[in-house]
Amino acid sequence: MRANVSKVLRWSAVDGPGNRLVLFLQGCNFACPGCHNPHTIGICNNCGDCVPACPQGALSLTNGTIAFDAARCDECDLCLRACPISASPMTESLTVEDVLAMLRQNLPFLNGITISGGEATVQAKFVEALFAAIKADPALAALSCFIDSNGHLGPQGWQRLMPVTDGVMLDIKAFAPGTHAALTGRRNDKSLESARIAQKAGKLYELRFLMVPGFTDSDAEIDALIAFARGLGPVRIKLNAFQHHGVQGPARDWPKMPRAGVEAAAAKLRAAGLGEVVTPSVWL
Ligand code: SF4
Ligand code: SF4
Repeated sequence: MRANVSKVLRWSAVDGPGNRLVLFLQGCNFACPGCHNPHTIGICNNCGDCVPACPQGALSLTNGTIAFDAARCDECDLCLRACPISASPMTESLTVEDVLAMLRQNLPFLNGITISGGEATVQAKFVEALFAAIKADPALAALSCFIDSNGHLGPQGWQRLMPVTDGVMLDIKAFAPGTHAALTGRRNDKSLESARIAQKAGKLYELRFLMVPGFTDSDAEIDALIAFARGLGPVRIKLNAFQHHGVQGPARDWPKMPRAGVEAAAAKLRAAGLGEVVTPSVWL
């Protein structure tokens, strides 16, 4: 079993509880114009358009397949800007055993692993196999297994993942269907249902809501978040603020979400009796 991986972070303190190894899987079923990692959305089709864009000669097309020489790469990311389908020529293919080996290497520093993306659940079979292998290994079984997801996965997918998953961090991009479609290219019914499924299983670690000026900072959206969270029962809510870091295309012209607007929304959520409400710890 292999995964197409965009990036590995050997440890992170911002992707779930404690210190975690994070796998960012390649490929996403949303196409958010405001994405901070747009090069994780597409899957490379070996077109070769990025090869001449690399000033280091780190890319080549051999027998119709893109090849990446990591030793030559100076991480300028010019290849990512050349790709017409928001993919990356720098992904790596990792097996379950590869990831287990990384966890063993870093074990003294880790509380768990988080699978993010792209969208983690696009490669759900790998996630299921990896988490099952972690739990079956006596040396690794104490690590918690978390998924960071946009929630665009049906109940049958969650049925397979939930028994081996300890926590889910789930993004709701918007409540008004038209706003959600504008921000993601997809409907939000699966994401809302995924939050309910994770909460019912006692594994919804965090419900995340991205505030984007002119889209999701309205009273109607915050009121909808309050109503939805009340329906779920006690849940930690994380409000995120749209920033420009990594964003490409027209969304670079969108205004940044001001801190005051996020703090006002957080105050409204707290006044509504919702439990833990978290705001960004860093403002760019
Ligand atoms: S990020 Fe690396 S592979 Fe991509 S263009 Fe720059 S040097 Fe070449
Ligand atoms: S990363 Fe993009 S530009 Fe490069 S070969 Fe793949 S699809 Fe083509």
